[in-house]
Amino acid sequence: MSKQYSVAVVGATGMVGQKMIEVLIERDFPFKELKLLASSRSANQKIEAGGQYYTIEELTAESFAGVEFAFFSAGGDISKVFAPEAVKHGAVVIDNSNAFRMDPTVPLVVPEVNPDSVFEHKGIIANPNCSTIQMVVALKPLQDAVPIKRVVAATYQAVSGAGKEAVDELLEHSRAVLEGRLVIPERIPHKGAKRNFQLAFNCVPQIDIFVEDGYCKEEIKMINETRKIMGLPNLPVTATTVRVPVVTSHSIAVNVEFTGPLEAAEARALLSRAPGVVLLDDPAGLSYPMPLQAADDDAVFVGRIRPDHSVEHGLNLWVVSDNIRKGAATNSIQIAELLINK
Ligand code: NAP
Repeated sequence: MSKQYSVAVVGATGMVGQKMIEVLIERDFPFKELKLLASSRSANQKIEAGGQYYTIEELTAESFAGVEFAFFSAGGDISKVFAPEAVKHGAVVIDNSNAFRMDPTVPLVVPEVNPDSVFEHKGIIANPNCSTIQMVVALKPLQDAVPIKRVVAATYQAVSGAGKEAVDELLEHSRAVLEGRLVIPERIPHKGAKRNFQLAFNCVPQIDIFVEDGYCKEEIKMINETRKIMGLPNLPVTATTVRVPVVTSHSIAVNVEFTGPLEAAEARALLSRAPGVVLLDDPAGLSYPMPLQAADDDAVFVGRIRPDHSVEHGLNLWVVSDNIRKGAATNSIQIAELLINK
């Protein structure tokens, strides 16, 4: 019998943690023990998964005794404190937060793009930002054919990227607006912001906090993480990240300039056989990717591929993927699978 692993999920009651449990079971990840960890608020809650009941335990430094893989999705502060504890106990940590992504000693991995970097880990492997993951899956086969000169991205990001409470707020506010009731926003752009905005029937051009030069942190993440994952530290990338009233799946309008010619038809052919990509690009048949169709799927859907006539060698793409699956849970589990299948 092949080896079975002891696995922990940190943040097991959250949007990403719940999906992580679902995907571990769905993909038959070989676990012999599944430890579900969250805050003291959730301790002793029972969760049903794959026909079995699990009890949520409070996360402590001692939670990791015997754990071989620890999937973290409880926010950066928790990862900073507890990921090193898990590593001390001998676990490999796959971290969904922003805590270690740009640490040069921590691999930042998208299995379709830079699988080999996973083997350079020293205990922690970072799972990239959700928008970055889906964008680089689409860019990689194009970059391999004709080197990219510049990338300009505009995102349309689902509220599930902001956690379960933000999803609940969008649903409740949508109902409230339709019924003419007052809404009091608390979650968008983020909890504790100086001002919060109604997302229902709205778009909010800020994700995460503002950092430098008028950019918000999500935009900086897309720029830096794209460069790190693709191994192109000087690639010119810019992004505008926008929260939209969609529950699941991020969409990105990506404008790519190349160093040489790449016809739209050739890009379609490359993407149609690229790992992890599903091409949906038939304008005549009104076929293109959309969040509702991409939800609950692990693929990165690409469509609306067309030349950008405003530059010498440019293409426009529309890239849609489930931010909680490929953008978080599935990508993390694929990272662990790279290690166990070696
Ligand atoms: P969420 O729905 O708000 O869930 C947060 C989880 O963290 C819950 O399980 C919560 O447990 C747990 N938690 C909070 N405080 C804790 C504490 N003191 N000790 C232990 N557990 C604690 O958030 P989410 O959407 O799942 O996101 C979680 C993390 O994943 C965030 O860092 C987010 O940025 C990241 N994320 C990453 C990606 C990506 O990598 N691509 C995509 C989406 C989200 P309780 O229920 O007990 O409070």
